[in-house]
Amino acid sequence: MFKSKYLKDLFDATKKRYSTQPEFLQAVEEFFGAMDPIVNEDPNIEKHGIMERLIEPERIIKFKVTWVGDDEKVNVNRGYRVQYNSALGPFKGGLRFHPSVNESILKFLGFEQTFKNSLTGLPLGGGKGGSDFDSKGKSDGEIMRFCQNYMQELYRHIGSDTDVPAGDIGVGYKEIGFLYGMYRKIRNENTGVLTGKGLTYGGSLVRKEATGYGVLYFAQEMLSKYRNESIEGKQVIISGSGKVGMHAALKARELGAYVVAMSDVNGYVYHKNGLDISLIAKLTEDIPEFSTQYKDYHQSAEYGENPTDIWKKPCDIALPCATQNELFLDSAKSLVKNGCYLVCEGANMPTTLDATHYLQQKDILFAPGKAANAGGVAVSGFEMTQNAMHTPWTYKELDEKLKHTMKQIFYKAYEAAEKYADPRNLVVGANVAGFLRVYEAMVDQGVI
Ligand code: NDP
Repeated sequence: MFKSKYLKDLFDATKKRYSTQPEFLQAVEEFFGAMDPIVNEDPNIEKHGIMERLIEPERIIKFKVTWVGDDEKVNVNRGYRVQYNSALGPFKGGLRFHPSVNESILKFLGFEQTFKNSLTGLPLGGGKGGSDFDSKGKSDGEIMRFCQNYMQELYRHIGSDTDVPAGDIGVGYKEIGFLYGMYRKIRNENTGVLTGKGLTYGGSLVRKEATGYGVLYFAQEMLSKYRNESIEGKQVIISGSGKVGMHAALKARELGAYVVAMSDVNGYVYHKNGLDISLIAKLTEDIPEFSTQYKDYHQSAEYGENPTDIWKKPCDIALPCATQNELFLDSAKSLVKNGCYLVCEGANMPTTLDATHYLQQKDILFAPGKAANAGGVAVSGFEMTQNAMHTPWTYKELDEKLKHTMKQIFYKAYEAAEKYADPRNLVVGANVAGFLRVYEAMVDQGVI
């Protein structure tokens, strides 16, 4: 566990207090594990109660969302916004609409977001929100009515200098449009309170691609620094085929890699010579799940109905881009056995803690999501800047800024890893580099 008694006692107390929040505890455990080296050498962290203050969100807002279905039946969902830490700037983080959403999941996401946003170097605090609403199988009218009712409560708690939500699982352009429309109507203002907006009303170029592209830019930095190699010709596995997974696949192909396997909730497809990424992009435009249909177009591909089996396939690079806890110890063992040497997280906390430790023990290059998937929030930050300036930037400018940001994040994590652990330990590096900026801001602003 932890060498520091302060961290050990605090984690034990946190475990007792939040015993029903496993995802939150997992995120805290990973973070505390990385904090060990600095907590011991800086007694002020304990004196200022920094860790106690960091793990508690500033505010958790929970509300009821009622909406009428196409069958005229009234439905009730639970809505949330976890405003985690605003020491660096307005709360910032996505909204997730998925039946699994609960306080534990949103707390883990908001906690991680605080350090991710810090790593971008932008003035952004951390937050997350969402609902247990399931948009699958719902008509556009139902999704619109849900989003409008969700915003009828959320609008009180957000604002362009207070809290700026974005998308996440189950929330894309369509949902952001409905949410933004209702906010604009209630507030009678156009201040860009959400990011990931459509391009006609204040959205940013490169936002939709940003997380997936950023993962590839980060993986490129890793390959270059640790192995003096490029991504060209590498075999890549990507789990998930949503906003992050699909854009990671498109960028991997553009950079000359072969995406040999991809997945969704219904299974995975594999082809050792590389998948037809254009076809997958086309299929996922119309239906969320492509895996069961891919073989209709390419009979030599292999389909498996368990998405987790994707990790049993040989590859050089694995990019988990679907959801939390999707890459288990067994999956990590298969990856190592089959020759994978780099795992770069596109999703948030997709790798379980024991799997992460195993990969690190086996000297696999490993990048945690809070560093590798920060491209999305970075371009969201650029969207906020463009909204405030009332001037859009070009695609080329934004892509350059994204590349530059991912490189800087890599080097911040690398340098902190070198100083506090070893240069390959980006888990320690990313957590420490993210933490130090938040720590300084909290101390400067006093006990509040
Ligand atoms: P989407 O809803 O767009 O896509 C999620 C994808 O993952 C879908 O293809 C979904 O399949 C698939 N999926 C879900 N569960 C599983 C599973 N158990 N096994 C295999 N596939 C699965 O979400 P995003 O792409 O936006 O987000 C993905 C991850 O990236 C999340 O962890 C999110 O927090 C993180 N992230 C997202 C950012 C963003 O900008 N969107 C920014 C930073 C992190 P199906 O369609 O069949 O349900």
